Amino acid sequence: MSETKKFRLAVIPGDGIGKEVVREGMRVLQHMAEESDGKFSFESDYFPWGCEYYLEHGKMMDEDGVEKIKDHDAIYFGAVGFPGVPDHVSLWGLRLAICQGFDQWANIRPVEFLPGVPRRLNHPNVDDLNWILVRENSEGEYSGIGGRNFAGRGTGNEVAVQSSLFTEKGCERIIRFAFDLARTRDRKKVTSVTKSNAQQYGMVLWDEVFARVSKDYPDVETDQWLVDAMAAQFVLHPEELEVVVASNLFADILSDLGSALAGSLGIAASANLNPERRTPSMFESVHGSAPDIAGKGVANPIGTIGSAALMLDHLGLKDEAVQLNKAIEETTRQGILPRDLGGSFDTVDVTDAIIKNLAKVK
Ligand code: ATP
Ligand code: MG
Repeated sequence: MSETKKFRLAVIPGDGIGKEVVREGMRVLQHMAEESDGKFSFESDYFPWGCEYYLEHGKMMDEDGVEKIKDHDAIYFGAVGFPGVPDHVSLWGLRLAICQGFDQWANIRPVEFLPGVPRRLNHPNVDDLNWILVRENSEGEYSGIGGRNFAGRGTGNEVAVQSSLFTEKGCERIIRFAFDLARTRDRKKVTSVTKSNAQQYGMVLWDEVFARVSKDYPDVETDQWLVDAMAAQFVLHPEELEVVVASNLFADILSDLGSALAGSLGIAASANLNPERRTPSMFESVHGSAPDIAGKGVANPIGTIGSAALMLDHLGLKDEAVQLNKAIEETTRQGILPRDLGGSFDTVDVTDAIIKNLAKVK
């Protein structure tokens, strides 16, 4: 028998329901490893970073945190956020520090309609939809460039500037990534989303790069939209979408809309990739720490377990990734739904069912 592939995971459960759903995701992954007949195994190192860590140590993660996890094969991330810690502190202090520290410039977020999950929309054209949102993850509106006129604070005249950064290289790599991804799918189509009528510098550059790169992919159908019209298109004609590529902020907003259309924020998975594989990529659900339901054992684990499927795929375990997605679908088809999807099953019950269904769909 060939040697066992050993994967080292850096696990960062974070705050709130992040801890609860990552525990479930790890349970699924360890179960799959045990059932793999020695094909692969996971060794996981846990890092207690997040808002509780911040309240105790004054920082979201260790100063050398990025260094500590740079040799792991992947990062499995829960969520950060805590009442009393400003969101921009928790976001920049941990999640964005990792994304930027490891140059995870591509964020993919599949939008999938699961069987048995009540839809927000009864759409005549829509039965089993599945599209994928590609988010530019290194620049754009999240470049962190700007400042505040603190001298003016409290005077009623304070001024703040927040700039977006678009580079030709940054646009080109994410747009090429979207085209390459489209080529792997049955329907080859890329939709680009900007607001280049009002954002006349960076987003016009994006549009120009899109037009140029698309010439290298004559086999891929394209269209270009303004983000406001695309928000409506998500609702009116989701069947027109296949691979959608957008800037950091726009894709973030559209992904919440997409996951809500598909049923709930709780089912949306995501991967922050360094496509060159120089550094570890990070896998996490789209939702946050949801303090309103934390500690109750009712969080939906599907987004985080779906992110584990993206991780398996990235680690080269393609068949296992497909198997896990099928087990999730089988579970919702059986009506084993958590509360946010209208069911009455707890976090642990949903995971148990997914684990049980792994054998069924194999
Ligand atoms: P954060 O500040 O960490 O982003 P948040 O309060 O914005 O947290 P989110 O997690 O982004 O909360 O989600 C918004 C709401 O959606 C939550 O308050 C929760 O009610 C619901 N929700 C999100 N994720 C889940 C989940 N996995 N299961 C059930 N409900 C969820
Ligand atoms: Mg949030």
